[in-house]
Amino acid sequence: MYDKLEELREKIRKDLGEVKCVDDLKNIRVQYLGKKGALTEILRGLGSVAAEERPKVGKMVNEVRSKVEARIADQMKLLEARQLEEKMASEKIDVTLPGRKAAEGHLHPVTLTLREIKKVFMRMGFEVAEGPEIENDYFNFEALNLPKDHPARDMQDTFYLTDEFLMRTQTSPVQARTMQSRTPNSPIRMICPGTVYRNDYDATHSPMFHQVEGLVIDKNISLADLKGTLELFCKEMFGSSVKIRLRPSFFPFTEPSAEVDISCVICGGKGCRVCKNSGWLEILGAGMVHPNVLRMSGYDPEKVSGFAFGMGVERIAMLRYGIDDLRLFFENDLRFIRQFK
Ligand SMILES: [Zn+2]
Repeated sequence: MYDKLEELREKIRKDLGEVKCVDDLKNIRVQYLGKKGALTEILRGLGSVAAEERPKVGKMVNEVRSKVEARIADQMKLLEARQLEEKMASEKIDVTLPGRKAAEGHLHPVTLTLREIKKVFMRMGFEVAEGPEIENDYFNFEALNLPKDHPARDMQDTFYLTDEFLMRTQTSPVQARTMQSRTPNSPIRMICPGTVYRNDYDATHSPMFHQVEGLVIDKNISLADLKGTLELFCKEMFGSSVKIRLRPSFFPFTEPSAEVDISCVICGGKGCRVCKNSGWLEILGAGMVHPNVLRMSGYDPEKVSGFAFGMGVERIAMLRYGIDDLRLFFENDLRFIRQFK
């Protein structure tokens, strides 16, 4: 009996030394102290021990039992403390860490420029009108004084969907549409920004680009109104020191027509590579609305007059930001686009 007890004691000591977690400890408790545990078995077997030995053996078994219980309780406390520590370490939140930034998008340089153009004209009391990108031949050409056999149509070669429908080559159809929707001879002051299409592709032309066209119609509108409006626009866009000049030109829908130049924003008019040493940069086309255009939309050229202008948004953006290839706007190279954040 003594040997058996001593053997058991040794075994328990060994097992306790190998405990790694709370569950190991619980198993030991069941294995030795449980209802069917080894120490309990010995207590039950006391009946077979000689009567005079019985109190002595019983006392020893109980001593071993309480020592083991105390040991288990101590180790349990230790293990639980360590587990809590590990849990706290693994779930620790460092409140001083900087937060993760959400990826932030931004507007495309063409959109930024278009918004700026709109803002300038809206401050001058212009309304903004939009129209369909797929147009019919009548609104894209005929209503703008460009009959079917007109040679100027060649300069505006585009993508035809059918003989009758095409991708619009300019936003001017919106002007004709607006005039035809109004009471004849009522005043108009509008711009129409939008996407237009041409069959061109090189450093300064893209098959898809953006235009802003403008139309003003009222009584006694003159070339002076045209020049004053465009001069104010150019100063707002490029700075108050910018000068403008009008050069005679030809457009089928205006008479007289003019190309509008601004003094070079790079060299201030002295002459440089960008302005090809002329000191001037071509920026838009304009003119007084042709009487035929007014008549076709139900307006009377004897009672009202007007002016119209049109500009490429990419061209303006290139001059504002000093970009020398228009194709960069559409290649979606983020290294280029991100510069405008
Ligand atoms: Zn220059």
